[in-house]
Amino acid sequence: MFAQRLAQVSVSATLKVAAEAERLRRAGYSVVDFSAGEPDFPTPEHVKAAGKAAIDANFTRYTPAPGIPELRQAVCTRYKTDYGVDVTPAEVLMTVGGKQALFNTALALFDPGDEVITHAPYWPTIPEQVKLVGGVPVIVPTRSEDAFAVHADAMIAAMTPRTKAIILNSPANPTGALIEEATVAAIADAAAKRGIWVIVDLCYEQLIYEAVPHNLPKVLFERHRDHTVLAGSASKSYAMTGWRCGWTVAPKELTAAFNIIQGQTTSNITSITQKAALTAISGSQDAVHVMLAEYRERRDAIHGWLTANPGIKCVKPKGAFYLFPDISGLLGSGGITTSTDFAQALLEKEHVVVTPGEAFDAPGYLRISYATSMDQLREGATRILRFADTLQSASAPATR
Ligand code: PMP
Repeated sequence: MFAQRLAQVSVSATLKVAAEAERLRRAGYSVVDFSAGEPDFPTPEHVKAAGKAAIDANFTRYTPAPGIPELRQAVCTRYKTDYGVDVTPAEVLMTVGGKQALFNTALALFDPGDEVITHAPYWPTIPEQVKLVGGVPVIVPTRSEDAFAVHADAMIAAMTPRTKAIILNSPANPTGALIEEATVAAIADAAAKRGIWVIVDLCYEQLIYEAVPHNLPKVLFERHRDHTVLAGSASKSYAMTGWRCGWTVAPKELTAAFNIIQGQTTSNITSITQKAALTAISGSQDAVHVMLAEYRERRDAIHGWLTANPGIKCVKPKGAFYLFPDISGLLGSGGITTSTDFAQALLEKEHVVVTPGEAFDAPGYLRISYATSMDQLREGATRILRFADTLQSASAPATR
């Protein structure tokens, strides 16, 4: 008999899609995979070199649990450069990806029964981690007609005396939406009055395509610094998903609590990763800009191709590397009534892998990752449009 907490937690829907795609690939089909939650770029050369040099220098032992001092300092310097905020190393702790940054936070802050507000469509790990520690996720929906905007009044209306925290994700997975500074300011003011923590998942912070103000660290630090947690990650910014490097920026007492938790669980993140991340975070950021420019072109291309079909409605995302089209206009014929049916049939008939919206609490949508080559995007879009056409002609009223 396993622990009760497992009964509450759902299995990743994206893994199921990946398994089916792998089966088709092995059977020899040319599969177009739009399910990736990670950059297709290799880790930049200078970052890889720093990792190799760390091995050669025998930098292969335990480090302090919160990370080597120069890396914690590098995170402070990065935030000073990018956001103009002053952070000290005592407020920074290096984690095994943004995932552990968020999980340390959940373990340190949430008691059983605590309510934690977040917005949907969401990255499933956010509510699942809340449930793993016995908390209760409270979900505030956002709408595609409204460009998935998070509204402060809706988030504030969800606050109750049991609310312990709010988790925001901007740019968001799966919608690519950004939360406006004014919204975060209003949420922070309301949270400050009630002693509620504000946690911001900034995993995609370097992947923003428009020059819009998005200085959430500053907005929060000015209002509510003693109850703010920023969760960062090297995974997407520097194409380092496999290295496993993230961090928290949080008040020093909470950082000390994270250190206790991490000291009794994983200890330090990989020593070699820390040296590579130090180069990524403090070295040239040119590679980030090159990848961003490439993602922007891909976004514009796939968005243009898919929305040529009026049955596919899609907000142009401002960040991250996902499109999140509303395909409800294509459902209802050929036995395809849900986005899960659609994704399944698209996989079987056209061998294109997408993640159905159900995985993100958003039935009627698909998540399409454009972290793949332009050729694959073109081919996949052609197949999706062909599949959509077959559904539309099946449902068109007979004219003769
Ligand atoms: N936050 C969001 C919104 C994500 O999409 C991801 C990765 N899919 C993460 C955090 C964590 O990534 P990592 O643990 O690799 O830093």
